[in-house]
Amino acid sequence: MNIGVLALQGSVAEHLKLITSVNKKIGAVPVRTIDELATVDGLIIPGGESTTLRKLMDDFNLYTPIRERIVAGMPVWGTCAGLILLADRIEGERPYFALLDVDVKRNAYGRQADSFVAEGDFAGMYINMVFIRAPMITRVGGGVDVLAEHNGTPVAVRQGHILATSFHPEMCPRDSRVHKYFCNMVESKE
Ligand code: GLN
Repeated sequence: MNIGVLALQGSVAEHLKLITSVNKKIGAVPVRTIDELATVDGLIIPGGESTTLRKLMDDFNLYTPIRERIVAGMPVWGTCAGLILLADRIEGERPYFALLDVDVKRNAYGRQADSFVAEGDFAGMYINMVFIRAPMITRVGGGVDVLAEHNGTPVAVRQGHILATSFHPEMCPRDSRVHKYFCNMVESKE
């Protein structure tokens, strides 16, 4: 079984390493092409710059194949910019995949210099949460479960096979528990 990391821009290597560390049954592969996408059972859309990522996905003709796989039930996890790309609504912008029933506001936690680490509960696990120019989730739809909050605002959500975090678990290289959570989503899909 393989989990892909969309490898056009952003924190790709960190995600690949953490997925590889979870267990031997799951491989981690960078995804840049339609053929590579076809080899994976789940996909991580990493943090980076959502405007750049959407442009590159368009340029690499990945929008439709990725969207079709997600609609067909492939587990997907968007971190930070990835969350923005999955959201139904982006304040002041056209949405991209629009498959996750939340609204987001880009850069709502401040600039790069305002990056911070918080601690909190994620689906029953106490973890560190790294925020880097993170989007804020400003509305959560009825079918969406909130897995983590920061100061009363949702920062991790799940809608069936779609997981999204406004923070960066891959920036905590010694803690693979959120990656393990996503691996479980992919394994239980089979
Ligand atoms: N600020 C970025 C955006 O709006 C997201 C930042 C990140 O992924 N770390 O796309």
